[in-house]
Amino acid sequence: MEPIQSLPGTEDILPKTQLVGKDVKVADIHTWQRVEATAREILARAAYREIRTPTFEATSLFERGIGVATDVVGKEMYSFKDKGDRGCTLRPEGTAGVVRAYVQHSLYAQGGVQRLWYTGPMFRYERPQKGRQRQFHQVGVEVLGSADPRADVEVIALATDILQALGLKNLTFYLNSVGDKRDRTRYRQALVDYLTPYAADLDADSRDRLSRNPLRILDSKDEKTQAITAAAPSILDYLGPDSKRHFDQVLSQLNALGIAYELNPRLVRGLDYYTHTAFEIQSSDLGAQATVCGGGRYDGLVEELGGPATPAVGWAIGLERLTLLLETLQQPIMANPDIYLVSRGEQAEANALQLAQKLRHQGLTVELDLSGSAFGKQFKRADRSGAAVCLVLGDDEAIQGTVQIKWLASGEQTSCPQADLLRDAASLRQQMATAQSS
Ligand code: ATP
Ligand code: MG
Repeated sequence: MEPIQSLPGTEDILPKTQLVGKDVKVADIHTWQRVEATAREILARAAYREIRTPTFEATSLFERGIGVATDVVGKEMYSFKDKGDRGCTLRPEGTAGVVRAYVQHSLYAQGGVQRLWYTGPMFRYERPQKGRQRQFHQVGVEVLGSADPRADVEVIALATDILQALGLKNLTFYLNSVGDKRDRTRYRQALVDYLTPYAADLDADSRDRLSRNPLRILDSKDEKTQAITAAAPSILDYLGPDSKRHFDQVLSQLNALGIAYELNPRLVRGLDYYTHTAFEIQSSDLGAQATVCGGGRYDGLVEELGGPATPAVGWAIGLERLTLLLETLQQPIMANPDIYLVSRGEQAEANALQLAQKLRHQGLTVELDLSGSAFGKQFKRADRSGAAVCLVLGDDEAIQGTVQIKWLASGEQTSCPQADLLRDAASLRQQMATAQSS
């Protein structure tokens, strides 16, 4: 029978080990787990709490929360009717669901600032390519209930901390302010006035946006359009005094934290509820899909989704792009067992299962060979496992209650009563650490 393949734009993250550079073995899943663990730890230290929302939501949530004029809602959503005739959509991003939950469960009633983070799969019907999939994953944060520019800076600092802790290089942090609603209305007019004489030369999408969502023309990927927008008026010249003060404070606090940025007045978010700070972190090592993190302030969204007026700021990091970058770094990630346990013979095999279990209870990672094959073959697998130690059990050892300890790096082998080994597991762990680091 023909095997069934995964769908285009979806990927398996495998525990398979592969060689990436000299003697360094990495399995895909370990890169992912390391990214997740790093994010979790850094966010916890800043008192962010995890929130888990459903993978699918009412389609109307995204229409209202992201906006029907966007590519995401207009072209990329996985939408369907369920058997009860409800309009459902696989979430294309995380913010709308988090804000829905915030409003639905009145999290604002707890007062103060809510600092939330999430991770999970997102779904967009896009053209699959390196760093762009139909099911992809994000880690994101949302700070709800603070209009303070320090909240903008705090979330930015967390994103840069996570990327830095992972050892990423060649990143550029682009920053802009899109002002408030009034600033943007004035700017939109200036932009339309500037672009209208060039309308015929714009790409089709941009021409279409000239009346619907002109700010989005600024992030067109079309070269001809980019040449035209290069000389467009800058939104930074249209900020009112309040917006300017907010932005100046963000800049000075970023400076104080030593976070380098580049101003990019073409970095915009086209919808009314996006306000003030907008930012992106790009890598020069990713090719066309360069943006690793995107975020900004969205002071109008909570109200748009039926909650009380609540200022908010957040970002999302794309994990596929992050793991691609980490794989280029070839950092060693050790996920090998401490011990590989081989056995042969009826008594030895039964004994091995029990010994493995007892060693695990002592906190050691034990891979038990279940093949029943000749010792020679089992030893080969022990070598490949990356374990520090191979424990060897034949029927003689099982009867005597001993075990052979074979150090895989040196080949040195000693015999030891199993009871001693279990009593002194800490010392074995110590010796293994020394063997690994030498
Ligand atoms: P892009 O311009 O690359 O399409 P975007 O503006 O649509 O990105 P956001 O909605 O801001 O992206 O999502 C935040 C991050 O999620 C992006 O910077 C990227 O790292 C990641 N991301 C978005 N779409 C995809 C996708 N289809 N596949 C993989 N990662 C994605
Ligand atoms: Mg996109």
